Amino acid sequence: MSIKVIAFDADDTLWVNEPYFRRTEEEFYKLLNEFLQQHALERELLKTEIGNLKLYGYGVKGFILSMIETALTVTNNTIPAEIIGQIINLGKALLDEPIELLDGVEEVLSGLKERYHLVVATKGDLLDQERKLKKSGLSHYFHHIEIMSEKDDANYLKLVKHLDIQPDELLMIGNSLKSDIMPVLNIGGSAIHVPYHITWAHEQIEDTIDNEKFESIVSIREILEMV
Ligand SMILES: [Mg+2]
Repeated sequence: MSIKVIAFDADDTLWVNEPYFRRTEEEFYKLLNEFLQQHALERELLKTEIGNLKLYGYGVKGFILSMIETALTVTNNTIPAEIIGQIINLGKALLDEPIELLDGVEEVLSGLKERYHLVVATKGDLLDQERKLKKSGLSHYFHHIEIMSEKDDANYLKLVKHLDIQPDELLMIGNSLKSDIMPVLNIGGSAIHVPYHITWAHEQIEDTIDNEKFESIVSIREILEMV
């Protein structure tokens, strides 16, 4: 490998994220359980979130708006204002969750930082991701932070150009096959998948990946022996 830059996804790669969203969803279902059963609410919320991605992008703010929209839809606009207030508070609490680094992350970053330029490539709300990075205490390991509206081929190409490297000099590490792995392989980069135990339904894909520039590992620590 002629890797110059190693890029890391943030949510559920560097730190815990999805479990906080799941917990907030559970609270949301409880608020609405007199109107609709949980499985139907889950379906409606996911549909609303995906429909809104192109308007709001990824992150907590869009998620809050999607919860409110779902509440309005499933109650035929009869949701009490008080419950809307509680939904907003659930979202604000989500923005205030602590940052819990995943096992091995700090060891890997300090082991790689002398040999490579390290980058964070994440999507989500700009302000929220900046806040999380600051809270994580990891900022000093990174040469560049890229907060992308969508993790697709075109945006990874833009990142490569910005970093002034060739696509095959990029190695991306992340928990989402759809966002962190496939587009990077598509542009000719290398990618290492570190699965997290839960994945948002919208990030799940069925494909099996057969590419010599792709590896899947169990612990992020394994990277130290691979590069
Ligand atoms: Mg992630």
